[in-house]
Amino acid sequence: MLHLDSCTGLKTFEISCPYCSAPLTAGSRLKWEGMLTWSECRCASCRKEFDYALPVAHAARFPVYRSPGQKVESAAELQWLVQAWNNSEASPLSLEYQGQASSKILRVFNCLDPCYGHALLRLLQVFPWLQHPEYDVLVLAPARLQWFIPESVKQRLLVHGPMKALAGEIQGLSGWMDAHLASHPHWQWDTLPLNFDYERLSLEPFLGAEYQIPKAEAATLVIHWRKDRFWMQSRAGEALAWCYYKYRWSWLQSWLEAQQLRNFKNLVRKVRQQVPGLSVYLVGMGKPKMLHWAIDERAESPDAETEKQWCRRYAQAGLVVGIHGSHMLLPSLLSQGIVELLPDWKINHWGEDVLFLKKDLEKRTRCRMVPTRSSTQRVTAHVLALLKWWPLWYDEKKPGKAHLGA
Ligand SMILES: [Zn+2]
Repeated sequence: MLHLDSCTGLKTFEISCPYCSAPLTAGSRLKWEGMLTWSECRCASCRKEFDYALPVAHAARFPVYRSPGQKVESAAELQWLVQAWNNSEASPLSLEYQGQASSKILRVFNCLDPCYGHALLRLLQVFPWLQHPEYDVLVLAPARLQWFIPESVKQRLLVHGPMKALAGEIQGLSGWMDAHLASHPHWQWDTLPLNFDYERLSLEPFLGAEYQIPKAEAATLVIHWRKDRFWMQSRAGEALAWCYYKYRWSWLQSWLEAQQLRNFKNLVRKVRQQVPGLSVYLVGMGKPKMLHWAIDERAESPDAETEKQWCRRYAQAGLVVGIHGSHMLLPSLLSQGIVELLPDWKINHWGEDVLFLKKDLEKRTRCRMVPTRSSTQRVTAHVLALLKWWPLWYDEKKPGKAHLGA
């Protein structure tokens, strides 16, 4: 059993030996290999020697360990993490350090993860610690997400390369960390729990006044485009979208994208019938087109400014519509509401990609999930319910009057 107070930053932690269940203390010698950081352990009871992963993020909920020369094993059901690590070759990715050392206590946040959403969730937990001047913060993060690291983070180690390469060991990382921490006698690592208390979250260091004073415009609809999950209205279409995603049937992509674009175009046409003057933006990863029904701000390789521009769109939007996935984390946090299209095969992951502050109880009524196999009429009804009718029912300042439309 693990005994560790959340976010205390202890260098050691109590575990049960995975072989004989005897209690022991781990954490004296660490190997920073990537998304998993290993602690060398030796059980005094059964005399087994093994590495035990620091209880950080998913490894805190689902402990993982390995014996010398053996594959990683898990004491719980978390096969994606174990399989990803075991199936990965050690990658010589390039490391880039930015920052300068100081004499303050260093809090180390390992935000490396091959999944964009997991890495983003780890990074969000850095924000509250920026309010504590007694600490310096060192963030280990994928370079792909460096745009999301606040400027006030004094030290950052960026790992360049494809996100999927972060599933396994990163060559050179552990040696770099040993050398760096040797010059910081006082440092602590953080647990980055999966169920983070978002009440403590302040995005001010990231979005500044734009987030504090959101200029939400109810008559603005943002559509978040995803290249590998699709809104398909027929059973056959959804089956093809699933095959495309699972088996990488790339020859289907242009057909799926055309179907989805047509669905969104029809949605916008129907919503505009009830909400004249509706502004529509299309964001997300994809090749932008000239569209007469939306301003297409998609990008195939978004840079930092593009990512932040998308965040400003979410903060201004009355509603964001998108397909289930980690790219909906920031829209759900920043926008007034979302309509999320959820594939049947993702029902088990309902709500994992939705963030809002606990104090924002209103948000609960403004986050809706509908099946991806939904008609234009059904999605239009949900969009109108939130864009047009939600203020009538919930806005006490304007009783009896809808904000928009005829
Ligand atoms: Zn033991």
